[in-house]
Amino acid sequence: MADRNNDPVVVIGLGRFGSALALELARRGTEVLALDNDPRHVQRLAGEITHIATADATDMATLRQLGVPDFYRAVVAIGSDIEASILTASLLVELEIDHIWAKAVSKQHGRILDRIGVHHVVFPEHDMGERVAHLVSGRMLDY
Ligand code: ATP
Repeated sequence: MADRNNDPVVVIGLGRFGSALALELARRGTEVLALDNDPRHVQRLAGEITHIATADATDMATLRQLGVPDFYRAVVAIGSDIEASILTASLLVELEIDHIWAKAVSKQHGRILDRIGVHHVVFPEHDMGERVAHLVSGRMLDY
């Protein structure tokens, strides 16, 4: 089977979580298409990520124009605007992207993302809290 671990990734939403993710992927040599509807976030990262654009990811025509249907992996890193997160994730499901990750800010948000067909739902604050608990308790070998 072909190794697709280096396939390009589309990262939608360039807040703290999304920008850290996009920059780390780029640093590791993965091609990234980064999107945000706020031009200030796009300008801030423009020198560091080759493919980056200001775009509303809740618009299917925009996603198609940017070539998103050709991607094998996508991450929805929109948090506080839950409507935008769910709508964007549902479009990626409709486009049959093989691996969709999405960040959730609450249990309910996570359940909805799961129900609409997102493959991997992550809870960054909760997950990081658990990791730090392990570190604080000295069980560093777990991570
Ligand atoms: P973080 O904690 O990672 O900083 P957050 O949880 O506060 O982020 P938001 O600010 O809701 O997350 O969203 C992250 C980014 O998603 C923002 O930069 C915002 O501009 C972008 N975003 C929100 N809606 C859309 C959309 N429809 N299309 C593209 N990007 C969007």
